[in-house]
Amino acid sequence: MSGVESMKIILIGIQGAGKSTQGNLLSEKLKIPYLSTGHIFRFLAKEKTKLGRYIKEIMNAGYLIPDKKTVSIVSNYLKRPEYANGYILDGFPRTLDQVKEFKNGVDKVVYLKVSDKEALWRLSYRNGDNREDETLAALRKRIELFHKLTEPVLDYYKNKGNLVEVDGEKAVEEVHKEILEKIK
Ligand code: AMP
Repeated sequence: MSGVESMKIILIGIQGAGKSTQGNLLSEKLKIPYLSTGHIFRFLAKEKTKLGRYIKEIMNAGYLIPDKKTVSIVSNYLKRPEYANGYILDGFPRTLDQVKEFKNGVDKVVYLKVSDKEALWRLSYRNGDNREDETLAALRKRIELFHKLTEPVLDYYKNKGNLVEVDGEKAVEEVHKEILEKIK
């Protein structure tokens, strides 16, 4: 695949599925920039502004930032010149309303599938970087919202024919290869 081709890839999966690991590997391989809405929001949550405090509170509880706000923040990021030839977007869209409001277009949607049990296990044993928004209650809430709000997004892309499903429980390198095969 040539690096000049535009490619818009979406990564979807519950927390702990390996989206950022796989997103970064893909980004290196395909020479397409990686962008994570989780990173954007964690960055905004550090700001000592009304918006910052508001976002922090929602994130720490494991809830989603409201759709309108999310779409406007993400769309603004994607206007930057570095994303003109495509992007690997991790963590967005997470609801059908976000899908509807998002005007940038999508080429491939990669669903990194891991069981709830595996994700909880991985997150509880991930050493070191425990974040403030990673309490067990927040994790459970995020998983619950994934099933309720994000699974319909997967069905939507499946019907459109751009969903690719990958077994995220395999070793990192194997998952990476499988993604590359399936998005060709
Ligand atoms: P993540 O690292 O992708 O799990 O995102 C961490 C937190 O950021 C989530 O629990 C949400 O509070 C917020 N967030 C990230 N992406 C979205 C999105 N697409 N819509 C709403 N909230 C989001």
